[in-house]
Amino acid sequence: MILATCRETQPGETRVSFIPEGVPALMKLGLEVVLESGAGEAAGFPDQAYRERGARLESRRELLPQAEILCQFHPPTPEDIAQLSPGAVVISLLYPLTRLPLVAEMAKRGLTVFALDLLPRISRAQSMDALSSQTTVAGYRAVVLAASLLPRFFPMLMTPAGTIPPARVFIIGAGVAGLQAIATARRLGAIVEAHDVRPVAKEQVESLGARFVGLEKEAAASEDSSGYAKAQSEEFLRRQRELIAAQCQKADVVITTALIPGKPAPILIAKEAVERMRPGSVIVDLAAEQGGNCELTEPGQTVVRSGVTLCGLLNPASALAPQASLFYSKNLQAFLSLLMKEGALQIQTEDPIFGQTLICRAGQIVHEGVRKASE
Ligand code: NAD
Repeated sequence: MILATCRETQPGETRVSFIPEGVPALMKLGLEVVLESGAGEAAGFPDQAYRERGARLESRRELLPQAEILCQFHPPTPEDIAQLSPGAVVISLLYPLTRLPLVAEMAKRGLTVFALDLLPRISRAQSMDALSSQTTVAGYRAVVLAASLLPRFFPMLMTPAGTIPPARVFIIGAGVAGLQAIATARRLGAIVEAHDVRPVAKEQVESLGARFVGLEKEAAASEDSSGYAKAQSEEFLRRQRELIAAQCQKADVVITTALIPGKPAPILIAKEAVERMRPGSVIVDLAAEQGGNCELTEPGQTVVRSGVTLCGLLNPASALAPQASLFYSKNLQAFLSLLMKEGALQIQTEDPIFGQTLICRAGQIVHEGVRKASE
């Protein structure tokens, strides 16, 4: 079967679905690997490196109609969908609930579509968990960026010229990105505090050497059956904003990562909280893609408000494209290994890994949640 990937066309996207080192393992699954010429260039992987490992390079126009499986970070555009052959399999980070017209178009074209962002967060699926691999990169990137924007040291310094106390970092949202941000800030020598609505996050935060900051009375039911945070009541959010404002006032750096699947990011830092922060302090808003956790965030922009540098970081994993691509390549390889049996596709929908990620098949939207949202 022909496994293809094209250059990503989203502005600022530098990652590629497969790295050259990943090609031999894919070929062992019985797949012929074909890439659009130049697909890996922005991530630092030239065409020649893929060729040397047995892949074929083609133009986009030649490649799309032959693709039997197409793997991308971002779903194909309507123009690409029209080029794909009916029956082809498309695997990407789709976020189908936010892209219903595109999903309908893919179903109409007869494509078999998987959304890797809907992979169940179970131990067996960890090696395929692209959300975790990419948000791990994002959490690291946010701290390193904040450290470069902050006009002071992160670690404590004791020198003949004086002693400098460590920077204080406050992380909001202690999921995958937040935990990696905590670990990175600790490695750089900062004092770290973190907050989350899920009480289970406390132990994880503390195991990384940070202090957990919670509300006295936690949200009654703060997480759903998949372990994701639920949207909170206005009253809860009001009390939470007060707590967060007090923490922000003490912090040199605030990293925000709070997300609710399928919903806009909750606003947790009000304008007034930014105004009360120390001049020179930095906020990196990793929720910018979903609107941001700070009222003043401008997605994709770095702005200074009341002396505070506020960075609405978009696609942070792209800044570390070679390694973000390596992770994704491994995630896809694990997913494909389970999907392929003796060189042919076998979609076992009773397996939650496929049951929960399969969106379209044989001209229909087969994912219940997406179908209901489309009606
Ligand atoms: P996410 O990106 O959806 O959200 C990031 C964090 O924001 C979460 O910790 C969430 O609780 C928090 N949050 C949401 N609303 C908030 C609010 N109002 N205030 C403060 N914090 C808020 O989450 P994620 O990082 O993708 O993780 C989702 C869940 O999946 C977590 O429970 C995580 O531990 C779990 N997980 C499990 C595995 C596994 O293999 N078992 C792998 C990855 C993640």
